[in-house]
Amino acid sequence: MEEKRVKIRIVLVPVPAQGHITPMMQLGKALHLKGFSITVIQTQHNRVSSSKDFPDFQFLTIPDSLPDSDIKKLGTIQFLIKLNQFCEATFKHCLGQLLQEQGNDDDNIACVVYDEYIHFSKAAAKAFQIPTVVFSTINATAFVCRSVLAKVNEDQFLIDMKDPEVQDKVFQGLHPLRYKDLPTSAFGPLESVLKLYSETVNTGTASAVIINSASCLESSSLAWLQQELQVPVYPIGPLHIAITAPSSLLEEDRSCIEWLNNQKPSSVIYISLGSLALIKTKDMLEMAQGLSNSNQPFLWVIRPGSIPASEWTESLPEEFDKLVSERGYIVKWAPQMEVLKHPAVGGFWSHCGWNSTLESLGEGVPMICRPFSGDQRVNARYLENVWRIGVQLEGKLEKGIVERAVKRLIVDEEGAEMRKRAIDLKEKLETSARSGGSSCSSLDDFVNPLKTKNS
Ligand code: UDP
Repeated sequence: MEEKRVKIRIVLVPVPAQGHITPMMQLGKALHLKGFSITVIQTQHNRVSSSKDFPDFQFLTIPDSLPDSDIKKLGTIQFLIKLNQFCEATFKHCLGQLLQEQGNDDDNIACVVYDEYIHFSKAAAKAFQIPTVVFSTINATAFVCRSVLAKVNEDQFLIDMKDPEVQDKVFQGLHPLRYKDLPTSAFGPLESVLKLYSETVNTGTASAVIINSASCLESSSLAWLQQELQVPVYPIGPLHIAITAPSSLLEEDRSCIEWLNNQKPSSVIYISLGSLALIKTKDMLEMAQGLSNSNQPFLWVIRPGSIPASEWTESLPEEFDKLVSERGYIVKWAPQMEVLKHPAVGGFWSHCGWNSTLESLGEGVPMICRPFSGDQRVNARYLENVWRIGVQLEGKLEKGIVERAVKRLIVDEEGAEMRKRAIDLKEKLETSARSGGSSCSSLDDFVNPLKTKNS
């Protein structure tokens, strides 16, 4: 229910990527329902252009000086480092103008909430004496990992990470995470990853940290952060359970819902690898063979550009079409939350991005975990080892392994047990998002002092 307007504005600064925009816009909606006015300051790249879905929000754009062609070449980590360098001045200018305009109104700016990966907003907010709040769009455990990694002996760590014998060992203090589960790989050279981490965990002058997670998922990591960061930590997630805030950058193909309507309950494996992961032709074929051999129907999102050197699927051999034609349905982009809610879906093969993980947990759908990089490995380890609702595929992707994983999840008793645990967790998450629940109360604990201080 929407609360009374309070004439207090909150400025949001998202990372321009789907997995970060989605939770930031959900947070914006949640804060708007609490009575705040919302301004979203975004960079030119990947903008939310949603006056339809967010008619009451103000959207401002700052130049980022990064042509699309450069972004592809840079890779995620270098892109974020450059974005932080380029945007500090443009953000300051934009915030200064907003404050001037606000002077004519009587809206106070209570704080700037920025995605942890875009710390360029810190300096400007400080210059204008506006409090800053960090929003972590990934989980608390990955935040803990980053804090630990930011302090490791870099030389020794770089040696360890190259040693194959170390990979399966549990990293001291981060049980059950092994070296190979640490959020380091594939986003860029390890040295740059460590540099970015030391910036992101340095919450510096921030007055609070908000995390899109719930205490029933990661209580010990949240407690660790609470102690380590020395500012209040508010686990307010998963936001999507209570909030609808459509912010898809790609067009959703809804025909897959009709296809799902014709499938048996809990029979379909839904496959999506998120908005960034790339997959080799060879792996696509192994997946298609394994899926076809499992005899289960499958709904597969193949995002345009996700197969290197290919616009969409044109580089795949004819054999691929034959393998998927009998039981498969392919789309370029799906209405994922609606798909996961659908009674026909029995399992989710995911790259384990944090949003996809939360969306699956929120619907009680067990998972096949094939992480690619960063925090996805942490999530996959937790899904399999801590929450015990996932099967992780490690090492080389082979059709036999794929077929076995699908059967374990959809057909075997083991899968039924995982589904029970997943439904149990879904109920806990729903309780935490309801009035009086831990995440709902945590959001109130965050907003109530802002209202009092600025009224
Ligand atoms: N998503 C979607 N349709 C798709 C695939 C993904 O709407 O076909 C959404 C998904 O619901 C999630 C987001 O894209 O909210 C992906 O975020 P995630 O953190 O899982 O992964 P990332 O894209 O950041 O790697």
